Amino acid sequence: MIKTKDIHKSFGALEVLKGIDLSIDKGEVVSIVGPSGAGKTTLLQILGTLSRPTSGEIEIDGVAVHTLSDKNISKFRNTKIGFVFQFHHLLPEFSAFENVCIPGYIAGRERHEVEKRAAELLGMLAMEHRLTHKPAELSGGEQQRVAIARALINSPAVLLADEPSGNLDTKNKEEIHKLFFTLRDTFGQTVVIVTHDEQLAEMSDRKIQMIDGLIRP
Ligand code: ATP
Repeated sequence: MIKTKDIHKSFGALEVLKGIDLSIDKGEVVSIVGPSGAGKTTLLQILGTLSRPTSGEIEIDGVAVHTLSDKNISKFRNTKIGFVFQFHHLLPEFSAFENVCIPGYIAGRERHEVEKRAAELLGMLAMEHRLTHKPAELSGGEQQRVAIARALINSPAVLLADEPSGNLDTKNKEEIHKLFFTLRDTFGQTVVIVTHDEQLAEMSDRKIQMIDGLIRP
């Protein structure tokens, strides 16, 4: 599902990624852990095609993304990658249901098909009683569940999460963590999570440890 070959990334004179070789299978939940500054977010952004590597190759869902033009890379990103961040960035003036649907409309999909999928996802995430609520009327855990449903509306090949539970209390954190495994078991969803949460890392199918721009063998 995801393969990288000798990924390097520098910001000016600072080399942040120093040769990353990675292979992640479909339906795997993988955690990336490591000390602050190790390059975890930089790697996740490259996997999400938000940032290009300085050198190296990346294949996602059979596509050699490092060879794509800027226009094709954003089209690829919109349909193949779902993102969840520590802060959910929901649109405050729209309901939970609308927030989930919007990326589906933007992708140009049929309205009824998008709404059916949104209802299905929100139901699966135990949010069916909150469809018309605005983000400010939802708890932190509920907001994050809406953000996860939104990330999945276009059935991405890969769900990428950067500290998805970093802002939550213990109970909500555990619920969000369980969801990643439900998504794997229900859709065969591939999930890559950058986290400082040891418990989540231990629950994952695989824990990848990064230190100083490299994966520890
Ligand atoms: P944390 O756990 O604190 O989030 P991390 O392992 O995710 O850390 P990164 O955010 O990938 O680390 O950052 C790795 C290094 O790259 C840091 O030294 C950071 O300052 C630097 N860096 C990241 N993005 C940029 C950028 N756009 N420009 C310059 N330096 C950057």
